[in-house]
Amino acid sequence: MNYQAHKVASAMSKAGDNSLHEKYSRQVLFAGIGKAGQERLLASRPVIVGCGAIGAAAANLLVRAGVGHLRILDRDFVEPSNLQRQTLFDEADARDALPKAVAAERKLRSINSEIVVEGVVADLNPRNVEELLAGFDIILDGTDNFETRFLVNDFAVKTATPWIYAAAVASYGVTMTIRPGNTPCLACMLAADRSAQGLEDTCDTIGVLAPIVNVIASLEVTEAMKLLARREDSLHGKLVSCDVWGGRFQSLRIERNPECSVCGRHEFAYLEGEAQPHITLCGRDSVQIHERRRTLDLAMLRNRLAPAVQDVRHNEFLLRFRISPYEMTVFADGRAILKGTKDPAVARSLYARYVGA
Ligand SMILES: [Zn+2]
Repeated sequence: MNYQAHKVASAMSKAGDNSLHEKYSRQVLFAGIGKAGQERLLASRPVIVGCGAIGAAAANLLVRAGVGHLRILDRDFVEPSNLQRQTLFDEADARDALPKAVAAERKLRSINSEIVVEGVVADLNPRNVEELLAGFDIILDGTDNFETRFLVNDFAVKTATPWIYAAAVASYGVTMTIRPGNTPCLACMLAADRSAQGLEDTCDTIGVLAPIVNVIASLEVTEAMKLLARREDSLHGKLVSCDVWGGRFQSLRIERNPECSVCGRHEFAYLEGEAQPHITLCGRDSVQIHERRRTLDLAMLRNRLAPAVQDVRHNEFLLRFRISPYEMTVFADGRAILKGTKDPAVARSLYARYVGA
């Protein structure tokens, strides 16, 4: 071995020995984390529900921080209009219409190969919530709708799992850490602060700026790091809101509602499926159908549909075609998203005609 090769080999073995120390050194130096905190992070299991703008930014931060096992759930695929703020995705992901969970997993693995990253293409609902969320230390909100948030809140309160609410629209965002038994839950918070619910499903109508998404995801992940490093003493315990355009920050202490049906009376209406409509409006000009649970052979479906519809494209995760003026995307689990209408009846009838009743 010549001198140069010896130097490289010795540097590499040193890097191997010290790779953990090296990779997380700046975080370990921070007094709030330290070596013990980093070891706890490396043994932790967070799950992110929804990999849009907030979910993608949160996943990026958690993976770099060195959590042990990150699961990311998402039901959607990458579109060009996502790229302005959904920082894990690129033009190739949009061109290939990759499911966000798949694109995120690939990108995150290239950022940190020493931890487990698991992208799951699924729509969280009362039937699969247990299977998808059980066994995780903490749940992070990356969703874009209150129906899913209330389902997560029910599951979190029932199983005493901490979760972090986060939402952003236009230049405004809010976040709050929910520790069942210790803090108010989402239902308590919305009873106390009605304005927080005004965030529902509006980013497709009034837009959203990337900076607010990153601010909210950063606040969310900082709280997650405190919980996962077992530094509960450092949690701020408030509903934090921020408007990056107006330059305003606000922290509000919310009280638990002793009459709360969820954390007070343990009535889990969303978990029991009573409050779950079969068809969800995605908030853009689209309807999602997820009432039929089946496994579809996408290649076979493509062959069957090709003569009857336009622009049929498929990858291993989804099949997309146009029936002017609509565009339908069908997932292997039987779900479909119909773009071009908000009318569930139109979506149901097209689904029955092209995919099957
Ligand atoms: Zn409550």
